[in-house]
Amino acid sequence: MTASIALFTRDLRVHDNPALDAACRAGERVVPLFVLDVDLLAKVSDAPNRMRFLTAALTELDAELRARGGRLVARRGHVVEEVAAVAAESNAHSVHVAADVTGYSARRQAALRERLSRIGCTLRIHPASITAVDARALRPDTGRSHYAVFTPYLRRWLDTPMRRPLNAPAAVVVPPIASEAIPDPAALGAGPGSPELSVGGETTGRRLLEHWLSGPVREYAQVKDVPAVDGTSGLSAYLHFGCLSAAEIVFRADISDPGGYAFVRQLAWRDFYHQVLADRPEIATADYRDRSRPWRNDAHAVAAWRAGLTGYPMVDAGMRQLTAQGRMPGRSRLITASFLVKTLRVDWRVGARHFERWLVDADVANNRMNWQWMAGTGTDTRSSRVLNPLRQAERFDPDGDYVRRWLPELAQLSGAEIHRPWRAGVPAAQYPAPIVEFNGM
Ligand SMILES: Cc1cc2nc3c(=O)[nH]c(=O)nc-3n(C[C@H](O)[C@H](O)[C@H](O)COP(=O)(O)OP(=O)(O)OC[C@H]3O[C@@H](n4cnc5c(N)ncnc54)[C@H](O)[C@@H]3O)c2cc1C
Repeated sequence: MTASIALFTRDLRVHDNPALDAACRAGERVVPLFVLDVDLLAKVSDAPNRMRFLTAALTELDAELRARGGRLVARRGHVVEEVAAVAAESNAHSVHVAADVTGYSARRQAALRERLSRIGCTLRIHPASITAVDARALRPDTGRSHYAVFTPYLRRWLDTPMRRPLNAPAAVVVPPIASEAIPDPAALGAGPGSPELSVGGETTGRRLLEHWLSGPVREYAQVKDVPAVDGTSGLSAYLHFGCLSAAEIVFRADISDPGGYAFVRQLAWRDFYHQVLADRPEIATADYRDRSRPWRNDAHAVAAWRAGLTGYPMVDAGMRQLTAQGRMPGRSRLITASFLVKTLRVDWRVGARHFERWLVDADVANNRMNWQWMAGTGTDTRSSRVLNPLRQAERFDPDGDYVRRWLPELAQLSGAEIHRPWRAGVPAAQYPAPIVEFNGM
């Protein structure tokens, strides 16, 4: 009896999953396979939050497959060898996988294709699985190989027809084949993570999405930059691991509503960065645009930034939230990133690595390209932009509620006073003096 393999990577869902859908149509039996790739695990072993999310997402994926008569087949090892072994064991003639954009995924794809061809098995790549629009489909009229400016990309992206979301398969028939148990995060070498981390998978993600689209999204345009309100979708980790499909979310959001439009616009940013990285995978580590000035080495300042002890409450609140919850609102990411690269003039890669240690949604395209945007080496057309944390605080946390939540040592300061503790005479033993000076102190 023939079989096909749906190789899950970061598309950990049964709804609107082109690779799973195609595998179910291609063979009488399907092996829904996830390989705990030891090469990748070695790279992310110091990212305990993502490890926790991954194992939760695999558990929910397994439950979704079981509800359809199937199950997740988990293996651990070198991905190419494991897929080839499962193909041989299950007599599979095709392997279906989502198209991805990183250099690592390109190498994996080439190696899989070559290895599978030796056993008469075909590799099929499914675009627009991780992004809403195929990351390689849109090209500007200028002849460039990717869009370097967001606004024209957005116009084109909005005009691009997207598929109707695919239903989850009604039934998944898995051949008899051995599987490892889904591991505990500790078994993957994950150390202690954020104490307030919240994790989930497709089932949890779909519940959050339903709630978000049923009402809160309408307020998004007004509150998205106000960190104290927590008025953003909170879906980024579900998108990163593919527990939710970006294409389905765009399809379902109502862009005639200002909130829905503002939300979908952010998903277009996600696609925008993915298409840049797909074309230039080296910019995960190299500057997208050359920078003439050297970066500063300042271990003391970097340590203060990481610990949330810079003396600027708006910066420190973001950094404390990052370690406590493994997430940070977009506005706080901008403020903290600007402080590191523009004020302390420390290399953006130092900041990107720290974010990747803690962020549960840490993503090569989004993290690295947003850092480059803030550093002035990326796609920002105003590369000299600096965010003054005091002005940002006055504008986006006028009553100090966000800072009060994350800096208990300043909680006694009322209203906006909390943003300038040095004026209120707070002793350095309670909260540090600012490590650099800013206009408006
Ligand atoms: C320095 C820096 C680093 C970042 N690192 C990451 C990262 O590693 N992973 C990540 O997913 N996002 C990253 N972002 C983008 C953004 O801050 C987060 O996506 C967002 O805060 C996640 O919260 P949310 O799901 O509630 O977003 P919402 O505001 O509800 O937005 C909806 C979705 O749109 C996408 N999105 C929103 N803003 C951006 C953006 N600026 N760029 C790309 N996609 C966006 C995300 O998928 C998000 O889930 C970073 C931003 C900065 C400034």
